[in-house]
Amino acid sequence: MASHQRSPPASDEATATSTDHESALETARRQLDRAAAGLDIDDAVLERLEHPAAVHEVTVPLERDDGSVEVFTGYRAQHDSVRGPYKGGLRYHPDVTRDECVGLSMWMTWKCAVMDLPFGGAKGGIVVDPKELSADEKERLTRRFAQEIRDVIGPNADIPAPDMGTDPQTMAWFMDAYSMQEGETIPGVVTGKPPGIGGSYGREEAPGRSVAIVTRETCEYYGYPLSETTVAVQGFGSVGANAARLLEEWGATVVAVSDVNGAVYDPDGIDVGAIPSHDEEPEAVTRFAAGIDEDDGVRRISNEELLELDVDVLIPAAVGNVITADNADAIAADIVVEGANGPTTFAADAILEERGIRVIPDILANAGGVTVSYFEWLQDINRRAWSLERVNEELESEMVTAWTALRDEVERRDISWRDAAYVVALERIADAQEMRGLWP
Ligand code: NAD
Repeated sequence: MASHQRSPPASDEATATSTDHESALETARRQLDRAAAGLDIDDAVLERLEHPAAVHEVTVPLERDDGSVEVFTGYRAQHDSVRGPYKGGLRYHPDVTRDECVGLSMWMTWKCAVMDLPFGGAKGGIVVDPKELSADEKERLTRRFAQEIRDVIGPNADIPAPDMGTDPQTMAWFMDAYSMQEGETIPGVVTGKPPGIGGSYGREEAPGRSVAIVTRETCEYYGYPLSETTVAVQGFGSVGANAARLLEEWGATVVAVSDVNGAVYDPDGIDVGAIPSHDEEPEAVTRFAAGIDEDDGVRRISNEELLELDVDVLIPAAVGNVITADNADAIAADIVVEGANGPTTFAADAILEERGIRVIPDILANAGGVTVSYFEWLQDINRRAWSLERVNEELESEMVTAWTALRDEVERRDISWRDAAYVVALERIADAQEMRGLWP
């Protein structure tokens, strides 16, 4: 069978300036090439994975509250389904593009494979600013979008989930619209629903919980007892706040947290339980910071300063592209755990690796979300709800298993954790593809 060793991507120097804010599709293709360079994988499989299986583009008419009609563009990119149904979020955002959906669908393929979930990757959305929609308009838009893409989704074909600009309520409308056309209730068509209609307990906290679990495993592995470990967390939303609270509960000292307006630093540790998360009260870190007395080392700092704190663990859990070629040399943490998607640019990644800083990649660290989505899908199909305790126990087990698979590759091949994640994912996908074969 034809196989080759791919050339690694262009030199880090060349990429430092040209790709520091690369698109999701560029990143996804670059990471595929980089992982493939170290593996002996069939050419045809790699060629297949460079391209999405399908990208569906639809127009979604919406009757506005004032009676006028506006037409929006929606996408559903389906990258690969060799290991199971497509899986991935639906985002409502003005910057949604076809290429972004394709790139993010590729990431979902790798993320599901890293977690060994029986899913492939998808992503979709509508080019719309959800802040400009009333609740009624959002409901009508969602129901019409469900109708427009209903032929290509389904509980055994493609299972959407919430993403930027969408939430459990959006998934409830989507599920209802799909079910009405099918003539029966089909909760497994989407995940991230409210628990009352087939959603899973623990789904909301899951990405933060998985970040905390892999942080704990990594700290133990590298000889940092949590009771002596300092942590800085950028972003205090669903991911950052849940990760910070669990790590504090498990004994770590969270010395800095932030929101979009800035950060607060206390070398003795912040009582993170006392600060509401972004969901509970938006930008509560700002209010907390405004109330502190700046003395004994306690101070208000910027988000940029938070990233450069001399801590054991840095968790960027806000937005992408915050660790770049410009600040990678100043990162002083020993371990970076990526809570957000894509917080480290390709160029910065090379600098951190060179400096011996361990980076636990997003496709493992925040994969608790898609893992509990998988649990939700199982519960829907079996019509049997799990308790929160069971969800958390199973998540713990899945995360430790996935983390261990990466650690084995890190040790065996002497590669970074990110490369290990892509190696594990790609090998699983390629194995499945080779067993099934390309047809005809
Ligand atoms: P969120 O909206 O709940 O919270 C985001 C937090 O980041 C808020 O505290 C906000 O003030 C802060 N923030 C926003 N912009 C910032 C900036 N430029 N600098 C510093 N702080 C900023 O978001 P979330 O759900 O916690 O998601 C955070 C990241 O994790 C995103 O990259 C998201 O894609 C990723 N993620 C989320 C989930 C999930 O299910 N929630 C799953 C996987 C990955």
